[in-house]
Amino acid sequence: MTRRMVALFFLGVLFARPIIADEGLRTFDGRHSIANIELTLVYFVPKDRAPLTDWRDRVSYFAKRLEAFHRRELDGQSSLKVIVGAEPFRASKTSEAIRGKDPNETFYNTVDETRNALKWPGKPRGAFPILLVLSEINWRELDDFRRIRVVDGKEEHEGNIGEGGRHFPGADSGGARATYWSGEGFGLGLVSADGWRVPYSGSDCVVYHEGIGHTIGLPHPEPIDNSVMGLAQYQGWLNETFLNVEQKKTLGWKPKTARDKGPDSLFTAFTAIPTPATPKTGQPVALVLRWPSSAKVKSLRARYQTEIAGPWSEVKTELGTTGSPPTRLALPPFKRATPVSYRINVTLEDGQEVELWGYFQVK
Ligand SMILES: [Zn+2]
Repeated sequence: MTRRMVALFFLGVLFARPIIADEGLRTFDGRHSIANIELTLVYFVPKDRAPLTDWRDRVSYFAKRLEAFHRRELDGQSSLKVIVGAEPFRASKTSEAIRGKDPNETFYNTVDETRNALKWPGKPRGAFPILLVLSEINWRELDDFRRIRVVDGKEEHEGNIGEGGRHFPGADSGGARATYWSGEGFGLGLVSADGWRVPYSGSDCVVYHEGIGHTIGLPHPEPIDNSVMGLAQYQGWLNETFLNVEQKKTLGWKPKTARDKGPDSLFTAFTAIPTPATPKTGQPVALVLRWPSSAKVKSLRARYQTEIAGPWSEVKTELGTTGSPPTRLALPPFKRATPVSYRINVTLEDGQEVELWGYFQVK
């Protein structure tokens, strides 16, 4: 398994970049057109687990984030279509059997069963095919909502927390990885539960990094940077990062002046950061909202939950009468220590819409 992974990792280096006569974006090694990409996004549930009741909302959220980022960063020169399966994929094996000995076995056990059952990729459809599996489990047992792992009977924290106390994806028990199959012309990716089920800011970066980046052959930039193939997942949401320009040029991207990155793009500008980052029980907590310049808000909806399988509670929102959008959204104080996931839906008067999910912990 390990040798197979290593071979795949180096494919981009082993094959010389062929000279391509036709126009349009291609995989990192130049072998396959990515003018159109079709990403099949599958929610994978082992036999001994139950699907999240709101799984479709979660999976569709990533589908929209990926499409918006891909369009913005490649200026429409590569078009990404994400297809979300109608039902969760119910695996024939238990979590333990799927996990195997190590994260590489987990990867192949997960993607191989999914591919075979779906007979993926099927007939060519004029698009570069990618299968991305969002798994209900991690390589090792991990409570990704509380970010707790039980070691020798004791609860230990596991998960990435930034300097300011914000939560970002990243856990040793995770196991997300992806491969680009140069000979066959497709990509396969797995995002383990810790990378997507709980919406830390940066989870959408992980889903793009594995789901689109590595599966079209993009490596980590050298030197490492803050792009989506670099360290973006430890810094913020997908709308706040970028694709490395040298990597884009290797794909065949041509710089364009009109880019959907300006101060008026809702997707690019909007963030909602919990303040304080780690509120204490009973302490007021608010989401600090960042808007595009001169945004006129038509509707604003916010919800939160304190259990991953629990209900979503509505947050009272007021648009005010001044015409300028609210910069703070107060959440009710939390009476006990708990993780909190939140989600916000915004529509502007000019028709732009965005959805953003986040997470924090009350201590
Ligand atoms: Zn990577």
